[in-house]
Amino acid sequence: MKIKIDDIPEAGLELSLKEEGTALGEAAGGTLDFSFPSPVEAHLEFSRTGPNVQVSGEIKAQIRLNCGRCLNEFDHDISLYFSDYFTAGRAVEKDKELKPEDMDISYLEGTEIDTTAMILGQIALDVPIQPLCKEDCKGLCTKCGADLNITECACDKGDKIDPRLAKLKDLKK
Ligand SMILES: [Zn+2]
Ligand SMILES: [Zn+2]
Repeated sequence: MKIKIDDIPEAGLELSLKEEGTALGEAAGGTLDFSFPSPVEAHLEFSRTGPNVQVSGEIKAQIRLNCGRCLNEFDHDISLYFSDYFTAGRAVEKDKELKPEDMDISYLEGTEIDTTAMILGQIALDVPIQPLCKEDCKGLCTKCGADLNITECACDKGDKIDPRLAKLKDLKK
């Protein structure tokens, strides 16, 4: 959905959106390495001063991605708050209270804010870099490829244990 900056009243604008996962995936042009098994919910608040728009919002989503260890698909819940700052077309004098490191300023090419792109961008920032289906996922055997969460293979993995991990295990006992 696109919001024209001019349409945002000075008093602000609040929006509650529900975006279908497939629509979001299509908007990303198939470049995502995750999918959305359910609709994404967002609550956005826009406030405007002249050409400058501040957006704060809350996004709730579920993403389906592949575990970095066992490669199985799993769903990961995302629940985030963000605030973003837009200005139409050109740089503006920054509000003294707003330190540059406190917020990313996005310059708009036109005079519209694309909420779909904004929501996608925020979710992408929140996707785990090393996704794990569970904290202690055992992963795949490096020798035979067996999923060690499901089965124990007969491969000799004695030399594979990281000594630091072994120490941790001792501590737990
Ligand atoms: Zn896993
Ligand atoms: Zn094996």
